[in-house]
Amino acid sequence: MDVINPATEERIATLTEDIAATLQEKWQQLKAAQPAWQARPLEERITVVKRFSELLETNKTQLAQILTSEVGKPVTQSANEVSGAIGRISWLAGNAAKYLADEIMGETPDLEERIAYEPLGVIANISAWNYPYLVGVNVFVPALLAGNAVLYKPSEYASLTGLQIERLWKEAGLDAHLFLTAIGTGNVGAALLEMPFDGYFFTGSYKTGHFIYNKVAAKMVPCQCELGGKDPLYVADDVTDIIAVAAATADGAFYNNGQSCCSVERIYVHENKYDAYIEAFVNEVRSWKTGAPTEEGIYFGPLTRKEQIGVLENQIADAVRKGAQIRTGGNRVDGKGYYFQPTVLTDVNAGMLVMKEESFGPVIGIMKVKNDAEAIAQMKDTEYGLTASVYSSGQARAESILQQVNAGTGYWNCCDRVSAALPWSGRKHSGFGTTLSHSGLRAFTKAKAYHLRKHS
Ligand code: NAD
Repeated sequence: MDVINPATEERIATLTEDIAATLQEKWQQLKAAQPAWQARPLEERITVVKRFSELLETNKTQLAQILTSEVGKPVTQSANEVSGAIGRISWLAGNAAKYLADEIMGETPDLEERIAYEPLGVIANISAWNYPYLVGVNVFVPALLAGNAVLYKPSEYASLTGLQIERLWKEAGLDAHLFLTAIGTGNVGAALLEMPFDGYFFTGSYKTGHFIYNKVAAKMVPCQCELGGKDPLYVADDVTDIIAVAAATADGAFYNNGQSCCSVERIYVHENKYDAYIEAFVNEVRSWKTGAPTEEGIYFGPLTRKEQIGVLENQIADAVRKGAQIRTGGNRVDGKGYYFQPTVLTDVNAGMLVMKEESFGPVIGIMKVKNDAEAIAQMKDTEYGLTASVYSSGQARAESILQQVNAGTGYWNCCDRVSAALPWSGRKHSGFGTTLSHSGLRAFTKAKAYHLRKHS
């Protein structure tokens, strides 16, 4: 399998894809190693995880360069991602004892009632390329903390990073057969669905998630799907600093080239602030540099996948045909690399693809609304339910709007952010299940109830 640098279109590595026999061998190794890991005291598992995190820190520059070479993310954003992963591990490792240790729920002289959080066993983690460290850590760190073994299937667009992660777990002292990678395309992911894993944890598109959930259902084992979004953001008429709001929300839409599950994908602006917001927003976007992702100071590198260029062109052509205005951008960039101009569309409406389907690229539609009621109706008009955001000086006003939107995360005066302390979960086509927070730590366990009567 060739690994292509999306900035240069050059082949940078050729990897051997796993086949059924090697996957089977890896599964057997994981299965054999897992019971001893489960038997290790939680404190020892936490120590190994902390060592892995330290190695992320000491290897950060090299890891960022490798990530940039295969996904095209500007190298400063790649380093930020590794730092973000270290922050998440700190929370997960720091809270593992609190949420994974046995809990005594009731005790009388005669009876103890206790919950034990047992690991699932060997889990499959089928992952995405857009934030391989962050979305990977969300799954494999709590899974290992809980005593599971992990078969990690990195995206075919982030395989070199997957192999680095495997190397660092070994260096951290994890038994070499507790965390193994499965290298390959979707076919390798699909082959894992035919195997007897004890849980399936998927991050990726709705289409693949739907396929996986259907396949796994017959196995009667846990399955979680963290999928895409079409995340709305509303700018109310009582915001005070429109330039700062435009800058923050543009970053929420365009960071990582818009290739984030929780990127802002649709913006609604109160008519009283609309013109000022558009002007500030476009100025902000135009101030960011596009260029080689290896250079300092670059905000836009290439897209990771060539095919996405066609998706964006199609959304833009559809919008323009239906009356949208292009305020900046609108085209692919000629020359080597999968570059696309950051694009701002106005005069959009709910019937346009750009306001309905995940863009997952540097394209945003901004729509004028008359009032909160119209904003709420538009925000709710989606198959997805990952995040929603409101910018307003009134907390009660913002919270009231967010309560009405069926999304796993609500943001007031912020967007495109994740906290390890809070549950990360989608609704509707954005998926189901939870990573992060106490609930995400326990997602990789089976709760066993003990009723312990002290007298026979
Ligand atoms: P994708 O669905 O194309 O691929 C994800 C993974 O699934 C890859 O490892 C791929 O090889 C594998 N795969 C593909 N077909 C398969 C099949 N038939 N059976 C089993 N595995 C298969 O998604 P992607 O392009 O890697 O990621 C982008 C998508 O992920 C976007 O929709 C984005 O919003 C979403 N995402 C969601 C979150 C979240 O936390 N909710 C985080 C990151 C990305």
